[in-house]
Amino acid sequence: MTNRKITMGPDKKIALVAHDNKKRDLIEWAKFNKKLLSHHRLYGTGTTGEILEKEVGLEVERLQSGPLGGDQQIGAKIAEGEINFLIFFWDPLEPQPHDPDVKALLRMAVVWNIPIACNRSSADFLISSPLMDKEYDRLVPDYGGYRGRRISGVER
Ligand code: PGA
Repeated sequence: MTNRKITMGPDKKIALVAHDNKKRDLIEWAKFNKKLLSHHRLYGTGTTGEILEKEVGLEVERLQSGPLGGDQQIGAKIAEGEINFLIFFWDPLEPQPHDPDVKALLRMAVVWNIPIACNRSSADFLISSPLMDKEYDRLVPDYGGYRGRRISGVER
């Protein structure tokens, strides 16, 4: 499969999501990195976004709470090209009511080759990358071949 380039500007469109037991971690991380985050456009699931606004003072476009569809909204925005960066502190020790949505969101991030950090050390490495504030050409597989695939018994 060949690749095509999708250019990400110096201002990234970052989704921030944290499960309840990881929200404190995300708040501390966001406080520490507030200055670095401030010129990017931020999105968040409902509760995460609310807490980031109140406790950290960041402006966040708030979507639905994760279990009410927020993860799916972020996944859809990744597919549409509106979100191009994901900080997702998911909880490895507790089942979630929306586990299928969590899996779907992580899958979308891989399908569209956007940077993902699922824990604090990865988020530290990403946020301090020189690419963070530069234009970056993301290589995304050209899914044209997949879209035009042959389906047995179907004329296209
Ligand atoms: P929340 O959702 O920010 O609304 O708590 C997070 C999630 O569980 O996806």
